[in-house]
Amino acid sequence: MSGLRIPLDGPDGSGTDHALSLLAPNPSPMTLDGTNTWVIGRGEDVLVVDPGPDDGPHLRRVADHLRGRRVTAVLLTHGHHDHSGGAKGFAELVRAPVRALDPGHRLGDEGLADGDVLTVGGLELHVVGTPGHSFDSLCFWLPEDRAMLTGDTVLGRGTTVIAPDGDLADYLRSLDRLRATAERVGAEALLPGHGPVLPDPIGALDGYIAHRRQRLDQIRSARERGARTPAEIVEIVYADVDRSLWPVAEMSVRAQLAYLDG
Ligand SMILES: [Zn+2]
Repeated sequence: MSGLRIPLDGPDGSGTDHALSLLAPNPSPMTLDGTNTWVIGRGEDVLVVDPGPDDGPHLRRVADHLRGRRVTAVLLTHGHHDHSGGAKGFAELVRAPVRALDPGHRLGDEGLADGDVLTVGGLELHVVGTPGHSFDSLCFWLPEDRAMLTGDTVLGRGTTVIAPDGDLADYLRSLDRLRATAERVGAEALLPGHGPVLPDPIGALDGYIAHRRQRLDQIRSARERGARTPAEIVEIVYADVDRSLWPVAEMSVRAQLAYLDG
């Protein structure tokens, strides 16, 4: 790989030779700097991954950036609103289909599933099924750039949460699979749905896996100390986390309890 771009002032404009992030203006504790909309391609044709929320100026900026290049498909890493809200509007603007695992998010007949290989401008993009953060989460491997687009399965900073439509057992399996894949194919960058590009895929995935194991251990020990409800467990395990994030932490604790008791 060459040309890994990691701007100092945030994810906008980051990426690799054939993948460019255009940052959507929806920052929050959950979305970090905002959603990374990825433009993948070479030559006249491109794929656009995760148009982001339904934000007119952002979608027009992405369309303007194309300067006449043709969008062959809009792809979704998953159906959460901060990735998909603008998908159908954007797809209509550029006259492209939307392909996603969840039929409810598609525009056109074509789906998207583990093992699919898309081509654009002579580049391949391999679909890797990674359920867990949500039931419909996908990653995309771009072999030419040795880069993996990870959606919300791995973020550029911090850790992700298991959403109510996700599953921790699936998520742990997906992290193991991503790590094995990254090692086998020699991945050199993770391109996340939020936050900066990660230049050390194995290190990042090992950190994610270790973090999950550590949280599960903390929850087991909080229960041994008498915590019963998710809220009581959050008070102990997430004592060092800002209280504004406790509702999110409680969602994560519920997912972990479902895993431990499942
Ligand atoms: Zn997201």
